[in-house]
Amino acid sequence: ANLYKVCIVGSGNWGSAIARIVGSTVTKFDKFDNSVNMYVYEEMVDGRKLSEIINTEHENVKYLPGRKLPENIVAVPDIKEAVRNSNLLIFVVPHQFVDGICNQIKGSLRSDACGISLIKGFDCRGRGIELISSAISRLLNIEMSVLMGANIAMEVADESFCEATIGCKDRKIGTVWKELFTASYFRTSIVLDPQTVELCGALKNIIAVASGFVMGLCHSDNTRAAMIRLGLIEMIRFITEFYGEARLETYFESCGIADLITTCSMGRNQRVAEAFVSSGKTLAELEKEMLKGQYLQGPLTAMEANKFLQEKNLEKDFPIFTAVYEICYHNRPVKTIIDAMREASTHA
Ligand code: NAD
Ligand code: 13P
Ligand code: CA
Repeated sequence: ANLYKVCIVGSGNWGSAIARIVGSTVTKFDKFDNSVNMYVYEEMVDGRKLSEIINTEHENVKYLPGRKLPENIVAVPDIKEAVRNSNLLIFVVPHQFVDGICNQIKGSLRSDACGISLIKGFDCRGRGIELISSAISRLLNIEMSVLMGANIAMEVADESFCEATIGCKDRKIGTVWKELFTASYFRTSIVLDPQTVELCGALKNIIAVASGFVMGLCHSDNTRAAMIRLGLIEMIRFITEFYGEARLETYFESCGIADLITTCSMGRNQRVAEAFVSSGKTLAELEKEMLKGQYLQGPLTAMEANKFLQEKNLEKDFPIFTAVYEICYHNRPVKTIIDAMREASTHA
């Protein structure tokens, strides 16, 4: 009766990769029900429903092709049905879909449900900055933790060793999540500084876009390293500005410096931004062409962050965040990303 029942809310690239880990751990521990629901936003792929393909072939052929899912992962296209009997909810959808999903499941949850967000982004619509975990918590009235880290989904699906950071308020629930997200190739640490963990995950996507611009312009590893360093400083300043209690050690966890490094090397934001420099195409066109249905989070996050900086009249103090926003949305010449680094370094 005390079994934990897991539902993965999302089945994109990361949702599918994490399903491989979760599907395997639930069968190893008695406390977890062996069957895991995965909410699939239904679409047709080669004339067949994606949820049916997943349930018969045990592969998400669109978002994680070539990697099998465990057979105890059950694709459920009806969001209410997917969450109804679950009390551990893993939220892993591109952040623009969070509101819609929460509004659909409001009222359908178990009273003992709690959640964890793997979503990298935040929301800035009139309430100041709102973390995705806080938005989910507010909309569904459940306790939320977060998991962030240097985790390019394809590499996790290939079972290359990596780490992640679980951010939570309460170590007890953190321990349950830690057990659930364990594999020989996937190691987590629990950090009781969840806001910093989550903000790191969101903000690094802005720097990944900046890093893509840099590599598209000059292909210099030195310049990219400078961008990662100056970007980290902007991230830290942004976070301390708004969450004074951030702990410096959190930046040395996987969610901090490690995620920044991996995303600035091989992430989608980095790759699309690099292609943007010489392609003559818009970011939206490249997102469609290069990502096959997956989504970029960096430009959106730069816009959300910019709203906040504008309100506080702080744009000049965040030259890299500001440059990324203006290049993405206001035709500012991409080469000025280098000027932004020069400005940043004067007061770093
Ligand atoms: P993705 O980029 O693969 O997005 C595709 C998903 O969006 C699909 O499941 C699709 O069905 C869904 N979708 C499309 N339209 C929708 C709608 N109207 N309503 C609901 N869902 C819809 O997704 P992802 O890579 O799993 O990313 C989810 C989150 O995880 C993001 O915040 C991302 O930053 C984060 N993340 C991704 C990776 C990675 O390597 N992919 C790694 C770590 C964290
Ligand atoms: P991208 O969304 O840029 O691919 O980053 C993935 C990620 O968050 C790796 O940790
Ligand atoms: Ca079990």
